[in-house]
Amino acid sequence: MEQIVRCLLVLTLISPPAFAEKVVWRIETITSHLHVLFGRGGNIAVHVGDEGVYIVDDQFAALSEDIKRQINTIQSGLPEFVINTHFHGDHTGGNAPFATDGSHIIAHHHVRERLESAHGAGSNVLPRLTFGSDLTLHFNNEHAVIQHFEHAHTDGDAVVFFTVANAVHMGDLYFNTGSLPFVDVDSGGSVDGLLAALYTVHQRIGPSTTLIPGHGALGKKVDLEQYIALIERAKKRVLNAIAIHKSESAVIASDPLDGLGLEYSSWLPKARVTRLFYRSLCNEACFK
Ligand SMILES: [Zn+2]
Repeated sequence: MEQIVRCLLVLTLISPPAFAEKVVWRIETITSHLHVLFGRGGNIAVHVGDEGVYIVDDQFAALSEDIKRQINTIQSGLPEFVINTHFHGDHTGGNAPFATDGSHIIAHHHVRERLESAHGAGSNVLPRLTFGSDLTLHFNNEHAVIQHFEHAHTDGDAVVFFTVANAVHMGDLYFNTGSLPFVDVDSGGSVDGLLAALYTVHQRIGPSTTLIPGHGALGKKVDLEQYIALIERAKKRVLNAIAIHKSESAVIASDPLDGLGLEYSSWLPKARVTRLFYRSLCNEACFK
């Protein structure tokens, strides 16, 4: 009996409810060297070439064998490097299995710190290579500039500029899902920091640059402009509500995001988005 319970417990741990439904894998090609793998969790960029393979983000540990199989349909070989755009588990969950296979995990210093406090000092979830403001990976005749943006979605976000492929992996700075971003204020995120990061990316790209969002479909500069305008509108509405209603509960009750015509997911409902915007904007721009 005890053994059955233990087996069930192990099964529960390796098969979280999120994977009860079959993952539908899809690959989109940006150039012959750069592909995007859509599965469950953060979108994965796959760079292939004469020197091998590297990826940006790795979804969940339980999906790592599927991810390897999908990569092998593009080019055989294990990733030499895995770049994490930030510490959230739907972007770093595969770090341990990829590191065990020999991949070198790269991330901002704060990603390592946050993963270390969650998983312990000896965990192979932790990135081996960390950086501060930026780092450039010269591999496969691509020069991938990994740029840190402070206090945006979290305090450890990195955006990857593929300078040859003319594409950018934006991590969760960009949700192309027809809704507002998740500003993780408990992990150093900020509405104004996020907007500042988006303005900078917008300045650096051209109309034909392909944008890889953390979640949702690929986009272009014009889509980023709409996303920025949406966040600016939401910010203005929440600031107006703060000026009138003051307290967090009264602002949420006033429903300032109503009328924007957005869809909200079950894990990030409108009230939570409003609360996160309130907490971020009050820290920065209003009374305590
Ligand atoms: Zn995230």
